[in-house]
Amino acid sequence: MVMVSATEMIQKAHEGHYAIGAFNTNNLEWTKCILTAAEQAKAPVMIQASEGASKYMGGYKMVVDLVKDLHDSLGITVPVALHLDHGTYEGAKACIEAGFTSVMFDGSHFDFEENMAKSKEIIELAHSKGVSVECEVGGIGGTEDGVTSNGELADPKECAAVAALGVDFLAAGIGNIHGKYPANWAGLNFERLDEINKAVDGKPLVLHGGSGIPFDQTSKAISMGVSKINVNTELQLVFADATRKYIEAGKDLEGKGYDPRKLLKPGADAIIAKTVELIKAFGSDNKA
Ligand SMILES: [Zn+2]
Repeated sequence: MVMVSATEMIQKAHEGHYAIGAFNTNNLEWTKCILTAAEQAKAPVMIQASEGASKYMGGYKMVVDLVKDLHDSLGITVPVALHLDHGTYEGAKACIEAGFTSVMFDGSHFDFEENMAKSKEIIELAHSKGVSVECEVGGIGGTEDGVTSNGELADPKECAAVAALGVDFLAAGIGNIHGKYPANWAGLNFERLDEINKAVDGKPLVLHGGSGIPFDQTSKAISMGVSKINVNTELQLVFADATRKYIEAGKDLEGKGYDPRKLLKPGADAIIAKTVELIKAFGSDNKA
């Protein structure tokens, strides 16, 4: 099966009250592990790449070829969408051209009128090619220069306006944050989520910063219209932790423990295990 747009899998998740895991990839190992985990859990999955990660991997076409080829070589049978995470206007256009099956256009840093105009243009272009689109309203909090902001709260009226443009799913801040959550984090704002969910009239919502949100909060968010949960940091943390343990135990110094196929294996196994765990927590296992 070739890669699919995310429209159908997100719509089914929305109707079935579960969420699709959207996992960020960084390289060959990450991509292979996410695909392997999705196949193990029999879950539809979104693999997403930021513009920075795509550049790191060699470019958008490289990312498309990597996911397609691994999909074939590994004999993956579950639906897989390749999504651009936090795309710029230019990046979203380039990814639609390169063969991504889904793109996010993040115009949240523009003033609202400009975000609307550019979102509309990207939605029309993407839909003409069968590509699904995510847009963002109001920004998502996060750590910049070591300072963690409070999660932002999107304006329900702005969410309704972008939803009405025909976007396939919508990212809106409800107190969520990119990166590690600080110890004094206030949690997701369910009152705002409820207002947004009512305002967008059945449009599936996206929860960014899905790493480390307690499962009772993600479950509640799913029951209130969240149908896609983004996970990036959590896979990076389990990979780094497993790799550090391998090296600290001196295993790279035993026999051919320095061979990258051995050195990277504990981290890869940890990514697979964490991805399966998250897919189950989001309820998308056995939904392929
Ligand atoms: Zn994000």
